[in-house]
Amino acid sequence: MKKVLIVGAGGVGKVVAHKCAQATDVFSEVLLASRTKEKCDAIASEVETMRGVKIRTFALDADNVAETTALLEKEKPDLLLNVALPYQDLPLMDACLAAGIDYMDTANYEPPEYPKFEYKWQWAYRERFEKAGIMALLGSGFDPGVTNVFCAYAQKHLFDEIHTVDIVDVNAGNHGLPFATNFNPEINIREITQEGRYWEAGEFKAIAPMSVKCDYDFPGGIGSQPLYLLYHEELESLALNLKGLKRIRFWMGFSENYLNHLNVLQNVGMTSHEPVMFEGKAISPVAFLRSVLPDPASLAERYTGMICIGCDITGIKDGKLKRHFIYSLMDHEETFRDTKSQAISFSTGVPATVGAIMMATGKWKRAGVHNIETCDPDPFLETMPKYGIPWEVAELDPAEAIS
Ligand code: NDP
Repeated sequence: MKKVLIVGAGGVGKVVAHKCAQATDVFSEVLLASRTKEKCDAIASEVETMRGVKIRTFALDADNVAETTALLEKEKPDLLLNVALPYQDLPLMDACLAAGIDYMDTANYEPPEYPKFEYKWQWAYRERFEKAGIMALLGSGFDPGVTNVFCAYAQKHLFDEIHTVDIVDVNAGNHGLPFATNFNPEINIREITQEGRYWEAGEFKAIAPMSVKCDYDFPGGIGSQPLYLLYHEELESLALNLKGLKRIRFWMGFSENYLNHLNVLQNVGMTSHEPVMFEGKAISPVAFLRSVLPDPASLAERYTGMICIGCDITGIKDGKLKRHFIYSLMDHEETFRDTKSQAISFSTGVPATVGAIMMATGKWKRAGVHNIETCDPDPFLETMPKYGIPWEVAELDPAEAIS
């Protein structure tokens, strides 16, 4: 039995706390630490009421390596599960190295000063983690995370050679508010407003933000949805790790209403991270915007409808061109019943827990820094439905793939 320390008590942290508490056969003790202890306490109280499991909580500034190291040395968890913000990845990896504790996260490091999505900072820790004999698992959310695992599954079972991957992500749900983001607004807006990029013929190609669009027909009654080509961090590692790959792209669905709000906010400068002076203080407009937008976790109660995320993959099997769509559907109302959370937080928190279970049970345990698609997809995909996310494979016509 293992002890896990969760860092971050936001929308995703709450789902992870519920799901680790559900994994009573793996985790004998669950700890939750975050900047605001009251948020940890509220989650712990809800988990105890709903699941009868006690979680101990701590106030922690995860940017402070010495503070995290001291907590790790005192509590000696087997694993630190990072669901704070991408800014905390490196300080938390440093603390894990200092205390000799395994690490995992759901999003790659971003420097707070400017939006830049690259694995280079975390890959630079490979040798140090290998030497210390500890593991860092990178990107165990849904995208990145399950999308990478779907690609690893396709490579292992469905194709001899993968040619194209289109990762598609749509939230067809409705929260009834004029504008809100589904996870941390600052991180979300930084992701969407940067230039789009996809990988083809061995190199990344750049496009203007939101300038390439397609319509995609989703299963589960969602139907045709407009999608926009974005850069997303899993493209970087998958482009290296998939055999024979010719092209990989990431597409996300946005309603016209969402884009209109975003355009206005962008046009007036509210999405910029460049500090401006306000009443004698330097503030970042996007960080300020975060404080006036709805807390994503607060959307849960009012959300209805489905989300679908999957990988539409073409390639060769036994000499024939094939196309498979591997996907999961999640229903906002069902995820609310299970964890009092909306489906976006749920879709990240469940795979984070499953990744932690893979490490804690030794199924994926190996020293070094590893992107999730380099691990065996089978035990992960066997376990994920037990924690609330089923998945399917549909065979589709290669001639109808996104052009
Ligand atoms: P939230 O903003 O809801 O939660 C973040 C939490 O981290 C908050 O509790 C916050 O504390 C805490 N935190 C921030 N800074 C620090 C710090 N210095 N020390 C300690 N705690 C800190 O975000 P989400 O829950 O929506 O997202 C969590 C993570 O999940 C993000 O990294 C996001 O990028 C990732 N994600 C990954 C996805 C995937 O599919 N791979 C999809 C969606 C999200 P406080 O409450 O005090 O602000």
